[in-house]
Amino acid sequence: MTEQQTIWSVNETTSIQSYTLANFRTIPQIQQLSEEAKFEMEVVGNVLPFKTNNYVVEQLIDWNNIPKDPMFVLTFPQKGMLIPEHYEKMASVLRSGADKKEIQNTANKIRLQLNPHPAGQMELNIPQLKDGTKLFGMQHKYQETCLFFPSQSQTCHAYCSFCFRWPQFVGMDEMKFAMREGEQLVQYLKEHQEITDVLFTGGDPMIMKASMFSVYTDALLDAKLPNLKTIRIGTKAISYWPTEPIKEAIKRVRKTGAQIRTQSPLLTHINDDADLWAEMWQKQVSLGCIPYYMFVVRDTGAQHYFGVPLVKAEKIFRSAFKHVSGLARTVRGPSMSATPGKVHVLGISEINGQKVIALQLLQGRNPDWVGIPFFAKYDENAIWLDDLQPAFEEKFFFEG
Ligand code: SF4
Repeated sequence: MTEQQTIWSVNETTSIQSYTLANFRTIPQIQQLSEEAKFEMEVVGNVLPFKTNNYVVEQLIDWNNIPKDPMFVLTFPQKGMLIPEHYEKMASVLRSGADKKEIQNTANKIRLQLNPHPAGQMELNIPQLKDGTKLFGMQHKYQETCLFFPSQSQTCHAYCSFCFRWPQFVGMDEMKFAMREGEQLVQYLKEHQEITDVLFTGGDPMIMKASMFSVYTDALLDAKLPNLKTIRIGTKAISYWPTEPIKEAIKRVRKTGAQIRTQSPLLTHINDDADLWAEMWQKQVSLGCIPYYMFVVRDTGAQHYFGVPLVKAEKIFRSAFKHVSGLARTVRGPSMSATPGKVHVLGISEINGQKVIALQLLQGRNPDWVGIPFFAKYDENAIWLDDLQPAFEEKFFFEG
């Protein structure tokens, strides 16, 4: 055990310190990097969100393996995350010594070209109370599940550089989802008896103190809503903290009767390796967690940098899946959270001599779409649903 590990696992008073663009140059390990590398981080970090912390820096990143270390790529801005045109635009603004306002304007112009609202989330999913009040802190995309974004959970312990929620973290206020009141959530559930699941999300809702979190959950429980069957919490908290304490935390969470289901995106530069996925699913099962989803990188932000072609993603999934026991085969994927719903890449097949990609919807904007197999032309370069062409028809069946 290294001295640092001793500090993190034994000294419970070790406190978390956040690092952002404003202070990342004070990190001793960053000071060892070239000025050029630090400037690159500044260029990208002025467009996409960046926040990490001393635990990630000291315990999770292998500084002997920079710039390739996956945890480094996962948490620090990388030059390739901006296409060259955008990178050069921001780099020249910074080099010119521009003021904050000009930097912000340039950043916002670039951000608007990065598809900040994938899957129609600003237009299609915002629910409304019967009195006409729009609930910007909620999304209701699938019949039985609504997403709730408490205003206090609009951040995370450290930002993931691939995050599809990046617009929420960069101060573009009109893009920010947040809701302060639990009462409106309760009212919406009363008006929508079809909803059985509420999913708390963010940012990361586990950034909230328990006392703050319970204001929302108590409001739901006190209302004794007959339709509400499950409260879900979407968090990466238990995947980011020290190993031994996390095992204990998982035990305690499971002791309450709660289940832990796991999901992760498949990312170039980080985890596009079947053995790694198989090992992760097995580990999760041994800790009593249930593997749930392998996701495909969404069509926003740095998709060009992290995206894995669907054909390759399916190969990685299948290769990992066949090496784990039935207990880990609860996992589904590769799955795309696209505009019509959650699209599952089932596999590669051949029909009447034509090579095709077989797909289905695991969740649909229209519930009748779920589970119907459909086929796309085989395309090794496609990284998203929009890149695919129907194999036998003009349009996919959900395109009307
Ligand atoms: S919302 Fe989730 S994916 Fe995005 S930065 Fe936070 S923890 Fe990472």
